[in-house]
Amino acid sequence: MRVYVIVPAAGIGTRMAMSHPAGGVLATGSSANAAAPKQFLTIGGVPVLIHSLRAFLAVERVSAIYVAVRASEMERMKAHIADFGLGEKVHVVEGGENRQDSVGKALAALEAEADDVILVHDAVRPLIDPATIDRTIDAVVQHGAAIVGLPAVDTIKQVERTANGALVTSTIPRERVVYAQTPQGALYAALKRAFEEAATDEFLGTDEASLLERAGVPVVVVAGSARNFKITQPGDLELAEFYLKRQE
Ligand code: C5P
Repeated sequence: MRVYVIVPAAGIGTRMAMSHPAGGVLATGSSANAAAPKQFLTIGGVPVLIHSLRAFLAVERVSAIYVAVRASEMERMKAHIADFGLGEKVHVVEGGENRQDSVGKALAALEAEADDVILVHDAVRPLIDPATIDRTIDAVVQHGAAIVGLPAVDTIKQVERTANGALVTSTIPRERVVYAQTPQGALYAALKRAFEEAATDEFLGTDEASLLERAGVPVVVVAGSARNFKITQPGDLELAEFYLKRQE
């Protein structure tokens, strides 16, 4: 059994940096960050994406990592792999128009066996830890498919979007809700089938689990942590830097 990791990193996602240029320059002291997609912003001089890759490289069972980036970023990504000494396990593929497309392209690029483990991790979650990755691999081996999820602590409302804002329509019991994080994974055969069925039905999901669910594959939840957040808004880089410093 081999473990492959796909890291979609082809998002444009410059909104945060543009609306809050200072957020992107905290570590480098230059303006180089200001227009960069979130995965290339730096924390302590190291791009967000590289922090994410290092966590997976720290897991011995990981055989190879496929990073999907935009065509225009492929050279920069290859340079990063060399500059940060990531080694032979990291490969670069061209991403697609949306997250699912990027993951699909990476999935097509790897040559795996039916019962190999495939994990997918958002490039913009740099605080994932090797222990959680290990537990996710174990869960995929044992159950066939797994996601990292965080129990909801807030009360969750279902809403209807109206011209006057969101209108609450019901309350979803929070004990029945988890926030889906990454890594998410499955055995290769199941994930490939889920992607093929989604393509046939023109279904577009925001994570792998949604494709697995509709393909009838049971997905178990591995406990995540609030630290494994997705860098999305101003302030997130500072928070990530705080956690990473504490880790050191
Ligand atoms: O925008 P979203 O939250 O879905 O992004 C999650 C991850 O998917 C990010 O790491 C982003 O770079 C990646 N992505 C991608 N290809 C796209 C859009 C997003 O690989 N076309």
